Amino acid sequence: MDTRRVLPGDGALIILTQAIRSTIERWVESGRGEDYWREPLVAVASAHDPLFHQLKDAVSPEHGMPEDLLKGAQSVIAFFLPFRQWVGEANVRIKGLSARSWAESYTATNGLIQVVGETLKEAIQGMGHAVAVTPPTHNFDSEKLVSAWSHKHVAYIAGLGTFGHHRLLITEAGCCGRLGSLVTTMTLAATPRPEKEYCLAKRGESCHACVSQCRYNALLKTHFDRHACYRQCLVNDAHFSDLPLTDVCGKCACQVPCSYSIPNNPP
Ligand code: SF4
Ligand code: SF4
Repeated sequence: MDTRRVLPGDGALIILTQAIRSTIERWVESGRGEDYWREPLVAVASAHDPLFHQLKDAVSPEHGMPEDLLKGAQSVIAFFLPFRQWVGEANVRIKGLSARSWAESYTATNGLIQVVGETLKEAIQGMGHAVAVTPPTHNFDSEKLVSAWSHKHVAYIAGLGTFGHHRLLITEAGCCGRLGSLVTTMTLAATPRPEKEYCLAKRGESCHACVSQCRYNALLKTHFDRHACYRQCLVNDAHFSDLPLTDVCGKCACQVPCSYSIPNNPP
């Protein structure tokens, strides 16, 4: 197969999705922890998409361009690893702190995202192209809490979903899960972006269930206080001190209409 041609969108997505699916299966079979994940989603952006330049305004002036990560970048691959419903259910069953299973799923998914990145890198390098893998998390400015490479915004550009009121990306499999991305010199057909808003509130329908889930004065109907949010994430990290860094909370992503699919009806 001459992979230097533009791979047709569907064919490339099938190959990449299968590679991620196999990686998850191997991870679970190896007994490294629970099976936290549903079917992965994959999407592709052209590295030359003009929206990347808007990230300097939307996220941070320091946000990287694909070309900064990899000389000759042609495509950016974004993937979403959606959590199983029990993971979200467990996280809201307990009040205040996050559930231990939520914290454990976070650290496990960090490891999985790294392995998925390495698997895709190997596969794409085998086809004669270069790849830059980005870290799963903690590539942000710890004072301003803005990212030098935002998987969420990159995934939006790639067409994986639309932003919810809770500032998370809502995909076809919901928002309850984790995102990863990598950059390659392989030219892949870009995935189209959704034509409608997935978030009910952004569609003008009543919802704000995510606001009701946030008891930490971080997510309100009128605004989002990222510092208040991160304070709660650090409370969880301190509580789960026997685990690697678990600066997470995620209550607003769990058991709301957009948790596991595109929401159809307001609650
Ligand atoms: S819970 Fe409702 S308002 Fe909040 S992001 Fe999801 S759909 Fe939008
Ligand atoms: S992650 Fe937690 S603290 Fe942050 S907005 Fe969501 S519910 Fe609120």
